[in-house]
Amino acid sequence: MNKAVRKAVIAGNWKMNKTRPEAKELIEAIKPLVKDAGCEVICCVPFTNLETALEATKGSNVKVGAENCHFEKSGAFTGEISAEMLTEMGVEYVVLGHSERRQYFGETDETVNKRVRAALAAGLKPIVCVGEMLKDRENGITAELVAMQTKIALKDVTAEEMKNVIIAYEPVWAIGTGKTATAEQANEVCALIRSTLASLYGAEVAEATTIQYGGSMNAKNAEELLAQPDVDGGLIGGASLKAPDFATIVAAATNG
Ligand code: PEP
Repeated sequence: MNKAVRKAVIAGNWKMNKTRPEAKELIEAIKPLVKDAGCEVICCVPFTNLETALEATKGSNVKVGAENCHFEKSGAFTGEISAEMLTEMGVEYVVLGHSERRQYFGETDETVNKRVRAALAAGLKPIVCVGEMLKDRENGITAELVAMQTKIALKDVTAEEMKNVIIAYEPVWAIGTGKTATAEQANEVCALIRSTLASLYGAEVAEATTIQYGGSMNAKNAEELLAQPDVDGGLIGGASLKAPDFATIVAAATNG
């Protein structure tokens, strides 16, 4: 198995952007531009935009994701949303363990793992984010750190469940900074994640798993990044808010 048979996935992470009318406008602009995409196209939107996005994407090839979910099924967790609440709406994907959640909202590898398991149990497909901070890279521990994050995030996740898991390698120093990892750096760490998956689940699962790169991917640099043998797609922040840029990245994934 090789890249040609893995599912390329381009997912937008809108973060805390867009009101409902703005969300509808953006989805309507994206749809015709990506209708012939040869990859999976996902818009991960704020909770308040999920219904709007689901309605606007009906009958199209654009899928909808959330940006987080809680690990408990229900209960006294004011302000939180459960995985089942998302699947009940028709949401298919969820971003978990994004570095902004880790940095600003106290997420740890352990809580990311709980969320991954809860999401899978509810029938959601998690996009699990891992990635080193600049100091980790400077200290030469990127490989160890990313392998550890991957292993903890996937603790007790079965090989069968891995069919529904996407991993996003997102070096924290490249997110929202305009500093992209070089294509070689991105590929090196995505390959390392794949070998970590092989050690956990065997080569077949590792080869079949989609591993995205995220971190200032844009219309200009997408082609080179997505052409790398172990980079199977992208998790896109800023550039996913501009329909033509997002569509250019989708086109690059289709060709890459
Ligand atoms: C992200 O939010 O996951 C991301 C990669 O952001 P940006 O593309 O803006 O760096």
